[in-house]
Amino acid sequence: MFGRARWRLTIWFAAAVIVILAVIGVAVLFTTRASLFDQVNSDLEDRVNRGALASLVGIQRDRTSGRTFPNIQAIEEALDELATAGGYFYAFVSPDGEVREHTSNVDLDGLAEVDDLERAILEGPLFVDTKSSEGEDLRVYVVPLQERATDRIFILEVGRSTEPERQALRQITLILAGGGGVGVALAVAGGFVLSGLALRPIKTAMGRQRGFVADASHELRTPLTLIRANAELLQRPSATAEETGDIAAEIISETDRLNNLVSQLLTLARADADHSAFRMDRIDLAEIAADTARQMRLLAERKQIAVESDTNGPVTVEGDDTRLREMITILIDNAIKYSDEGSSVKVSVEKAGDRAHLTISDNGRGIPTDALPRIFDRFYRADKARSREIGGTGLGLAIAKWIVDSHKGHIDIDSRQGEGTTVSVELPAAT
Ligand code: ATP
Ligand code: MG
Repeated sequence: MFGRARWRLTIWFAAAVIVILAVIGVAVLFTTRASLFDQVNSDLEDRVNRGALASLVGIQRDRTSGRTFPNIQAIEEALDELATAGGYFYAFVSPDGEVREHTSNVDLDGLAEVDDLERAILEGPLFVDTKSSEGEDLRVYVVPLQERATDRIFILEVGRSTEPERQALRQITLILAGGGGVGVALAVAGGFVLSGLALRPIKTAMGRQRGFVADASHELRTPLTLIRANAELLQRPSATAEETGDIAAEIISETDRLNNLVSQLLTLARADADHSAFRMDRIDLAEIAADTARQMRLLAERKQIAVESDTNGPVTVEGDDTRLREMITILIDNAIKYSDEGSSVKVSVEKAGDRAHLTISDNGRGIPTDALPRIFDRFYRADKARSREIGGTGLGLAIAKWIVDSHKGHIDIDSRQGEGTTVSVELPAAT
């Protein structure tokens, strides 16, 4: 499943890179092409507007009244003399396309068509692309001129091969294609690595979720099995009234356990789904702790465990009253549950700088050192068999940690097997 998702991500990523590279490549080609051919155009214009021809054509002197020239003969003579350095060719033609004079390097096939000549006469000078008799690409500047004395119109054509520009464009295309190919290959490789990295946390989270569901189902099955077994016992006609009472009590206790488990699972499901399910108010942590300790005393008295609370004035925090009470209940419950009869549990709250410290310590059985790193994991119990006997499912500390984390706090457990446990919770104090 993840393999396919990884390839799909890679393909999408590579496709996006290909589209981006193609757009950039086409843009580069078009702008380069435009600027190269703009340069050809201005080179061709310069042949007419500057240098030897300019004075004869009269453009510089007489720009506004059009391109007039003194007489045909002068131009024709001038063409004879024109140097053809740089591969420029010149031709002087009449409107019907008859070539009157041209430089020796002209390829007559490469001159403008009569249509173009007519268009130039109507619209003014223009550029046309032609081909030489050998198929070479040429660009020709077609300039209509009017003889001053006679008003007759002739056309001057200046052209040159655009092969160097086309060659340059071909090279740029090759470089872009090669670069694009390498870019796509890198995109595929990079996309594959990146999608692997991106999917890793999802994979881990899904694995954890799967484990959680499996553990939850397992935990749910135990009380259900017991309830069913007891119900079957009830069906027996031979059961005495006393037995029936015991069985019913067992069913009730397992149902309570089931109820408790389901509500814990719901809390964790909510924790996974939404981080903002908290109603933050300014509350007194010391008061909440003392209050919860008082409520837990009833439970503690059954084991003759003393729950002492040590608070010294209010310690205000920004927090969710219900959730913080829940967290403190979980911690005091553990302290009572995992301590022997006659011991004591101490709850204290104090403020140190901008932090509020809540400490719950007991001198119970403690937690083995090798179990400490996993103690906040869901369903983790240091001593599975005994915890279950006491009624633990291993979700309490996971919920407590979620609550503390959601308050931007920190929870820590310090424990020595056989000596006792101290849980420290640190929350930002409200100013
Ligand atoms: P529940 O979900 O009902 O709280 P639980 O108490 O087993 O079940 P946690 O509160 O998460 O689960 O505690 C996890 C384990 O850590 C316990 O099973 C117990 O082994 C150990 N533990 C927690 N607190 C203490 C403590 N104060 N003293 C000794 N062991 C503790
Ligand atoms: Mg617990």
